[in-house]
Amino acid sequence: MAHVITEPCAGPGGKVVACAAVCPVDCIHPKKDEAGFDQVKHLSIDAGTCIDCGLCVDECPVKAIFPEASVPGEWNQYIQLNADYYKNRG
Ligand code: SF4
Repeated sequence: MAHVITEPCAGPGGKVVACAAVCPVDCIHPKKDEAGFDQVKHLSIDAGTCIDCGLCVDECPVKAIFPEASVPGEWNQYIQLNADYYKNRG
């Protein structure tokens, strides 16, 4: 299991990147200084690296981050969208 970044990150006030600053295993990307930051709609969590510590959740000002098992139904596609980012990033 991992945490997942969902729709609010893609909306007004999203892509703040405060979550990435606190992640102890550096699994939230892209950061502002990384390639592709302007092109992505939202940040994504690497499920293969996330240790489910939950530190990122409270850092998100738009409440976009959930444990995978608690992702609201209407945002379920973000589980795949987060995974797709890392698949495409290589
Ligand atoms: Fe990083 Fe912890 Fe958030 Fe996973 S739950 S993305 S390890 S801060």
